[in-house]
Amino acid sequence: MTTGFETLEKQIAQLEAKPLNLNLTRGLPAQNQIDLVKTLRSIEIPDLEVVFEDGSTRFMSKEEANRESGIKSKSDIYNYGVPTGLISAKQLMAPLLKLPPEQVFVGGPSSLFLAGHVFEVFTHRGTFEGDTPWKEVKGKWLCPVAGYDRHHDRLELMGIEMIPVPMTETGPDMDIVEKLVAEDETILGMWAIPTFSNPTGDTYSDEVVNRLCSMKTAYKGFRIFVDDAYCVHGIDFPLPQTKSFVQAAKEAGNPDRAIVFISTSKISIPGAGLSAFGTSLDNIKFIQAGISLMGIAIGDKITQAQHVSFYKNTENLIEHMKALADIIKPKRDITLKVMEEELGLDGEFATWTSPSGGYFISVYTKAPIAKEVVALSKKLGVALTGAGAAFPYKKDPNNNHLRISFTYPPEEDVKKAMEVVCTVIKYLTLKQN
Ligand code: PLP
Repeated sequence: MTTGFETLEKQIAQLEAKPLNLNLTRGLPAQNQIDLVKTLRSIEIPDLEVVFEDGSTRFMSKEEANRESGIKSKSDIYNYGVPTGLISAKQLMAPLLKLPPEQVFVGGPSSLFLAGHVFEVFTHRGTFEGDTPWKEVKGKWLCPVAGYDRHHDRLELMGIEMIPVPMTETGPDMDIVEKLVAEDETILGMWAIPTFSNPTGDTYSDEVVNRLCSMKTAYKGFRIFVDDAYCVHGIDFPLPQTKSFVQAAKEAGNPDRAIVFISTSKISIPGAGLSAFGTSLDNIKFIQAGISLMGIAIGDKITQAQHVSFYKNTENLIEHMKALADIIKPKRDITLKVMEEELGLDGEFATWTSPSGGYFISVYTKAPIAKEVVALSKKLGVALTGAGAAFPYKKDPNNNHLRISFTYPPEEDVKKAMEVVCTVIKYLTLKQN
């Protein structure tokens, strides 16, 4: 398995003479995933969403609605109104959030943007317990690492100090989290990506969810921004049954602690889907009052209705995730197989995660060479996510973490790119020794 250093040197020289043009940086759905949903955008939507007394919903014209009986409410899809989303869209998204539809707010096409709106409300108004607005506090935030760069970027933008907390296979290291939040009343909250986390692919255990939701916090308005972006994004099925943060927080007597964000960005069409958050009714009311000062409607009801018409119910949506998994699984398997064959399983060169869902694999090189691996791979024509990108302030203290995004390129490109990355890891490790 281990190739001699001189052979590796030759391989690198050959690759350098004829650089490839491959990219493993982007956690995007591949074109053939998106092709499966393209017809969604051409579904014609009539004027109204009609909600019946029994809770069922239908889209229909105004004339049709006039002939119906048993109607509880009607919403105009082509005008302002229904600022927290169509009832049918809430019904579609609620099972993904593990909450009843009343506890769901459906927003525009991006969950990050929606989380940004919630941050904005807390920044200017504090949380609803009557807190000081966050802009008046020199706040801190816990960030499980390796984590998601855009989470860190948002906090940096707001001037909130980030405190990294190590991830384990079952979630953040809870002994560290509990100690920090109990002692420091300027820690306002934390990020969590509980299912198939970006970038490790790990899923939180129920024990971790319970501890996060019940732990004593010095700051009483403490919030967990739960980014469940990959809640149904299995590669292997059945999906893990992670515990609901909102339910666990309620059980622990902290009903308003957790706000869970999701989107259909990697279910339907990125940038043209639905986002949603779920939380307590009090939080929803408070956040909606704040968001209403920023705009009349932040959700697009036509897109919401098209998603409801396309999927019809959450069971169909999960079936759709299985069709997407058929496309993603061979790429995940190739990535793992190449590493296994090239680097071996004894940890001589690296270790890595083997996620059963999500879009990413984390690789930890044995030697502190992540930056060098990214730089040399780039020279050989394989773009990787920047070293350090998964850490607050882009600083990986061990310089050994690489994020591999395997979903976007075709299978043969994933294979070629991973072969180069493995050659580079071996070469640089041996060069160090
Ligand atoms: N959250 C995580 C953890 C992600 O990995 C991504 C995309 O890669 C997003 C959010 C983006 O979601 P959205 O498109 O809904 O803003």
